[in-house]
Amino acid sequence: MTTSAQAAICYGRDKPFAIEAVTLDDPRADEVLVRIVACGICHTDMAVRDAQLPTPLPAILGHEGAGIVERVGSGVNHVKPGDRVIMSFNSCGHCPSCDIDKPTYCYNFVPENWIGTRTDGSHTTHQGNAGVNANFFGQSAFATFALGHARNVVKVPDSAADVPLATLAPLGCGLMTGAGAVLRSMNVRSGMPIAIFGAGAVGLGAIMAAKIAGANPIIAVDVHDSRLALARELGATHTINGKTDDAAYQIRALCPQGLGYAFDTTGINKIIEQAFDLLAPLGIVGIVGASSRADSLTFNEASFMGGGKRVMGILGGDSDLVTFLPDLIQHHLAGRFPHEKLIKTFPFDQINEAFHAGESGAVVKPVLVMPS
Ligand SMILES: [Zn+2]
Ligand SMILES: [Zn+2]
Repeated sequence: MTTSAQAAICYGRDKPFAIEAVTLDDPRADEVLVRIVACGICHTDMAVRDAQLPTPLPAILGHEGAGIVERVGSGVNHVKPGDRVIMSFNSCGHCPSCDIDKPTYCYNFVPENWIGTRTDGSHTTHQGNAGVNANFFGQSAFATFALGHARNVVKVPDSAADVPLATLAPLGCGLMTGAGAVLRSMNVRSGMPIAIFGAGAVGLGAIMAAKIAGANPIIAVDVHDSRLALARELGATHTINGKTDDAAYQIRALCPQGLGYAFDTTGINKIIEQAFDLLAPLGIVGIVGASSRADSLTFNEASFMGGGKRVMGILGGDSDLVTFLPDLIQHHLAGRFPHEKLIKTFPFDQINEAFHAGESGAVVKPVLVMPS
């Protein structure tokens, strides 16, 4: 038996998403069929649409899904039909990174998430007899149903029964990345200064987490005043518009001893190198922004070594889904992680409008809501 669904097919940069009928396989032993209720839109979806990642097009994208479990494979025990779940990235569970609960650095990340099929090359999704590229981040949740896996489907705790799935959906990627970078990767110390470059979903997630960690001051740098206002509302103690002000000069004035932490979400190498120059001894510059594959960074060796400084590449905020997503939900319930302020919902059939709103900067975190 298969499951019929409506899915938004991505045909590439210059073509709109088209909502079409597809069929999904029955879940295999380690798979979970989820009726999708909502799915966030993230910059990685845009990067795939623009052919910057290896996922072959056309494909069903969407990797911040949330919904209700419909059916589970014979080997899945941690969720059951009817459970409310969040979906995130997939991982193999048997490599040196997965072995130490650092699945964002899974040695098999690309085949588990980005090749359009299961790791054995089979399609999860079809149109007639033809396979459709899916299994994106082990889900492909721009659809009314998605096939996830035991390792990337996380049960929503009962304490969050009243929180809408449209609010919970975007926790599984960008917000988790920003918050995890601060709380897990860099493990920000209370009372230490941090500057966050870029106040999109990832940067704002980092600002909320920096407040939770007790960082001080928390300096947000962006080029949009509306985002800086939101940054202030969410915990930034100081904001700098990098377009009109000299950010480095202002940060030096605020933190004459240097920054304990700098967090870059822009991927702009000039900003990263400048952030490195602003570090205090033992300072860390954490990098999540994607640069061009051809780019390299340049640092002064004496300053790097002599100051015991660290340049840290970060993927997914070093998140271990099983522990960190429930942690974030608890922070949300306690009012410490009010990420609902970033969200605007769109009906599924307005996916093209929702992408536009995300790219123009009008909305920080567009979330699609599926028809019930
Ligand atoms: Zn792995
Ligand atoms: Zn994402």
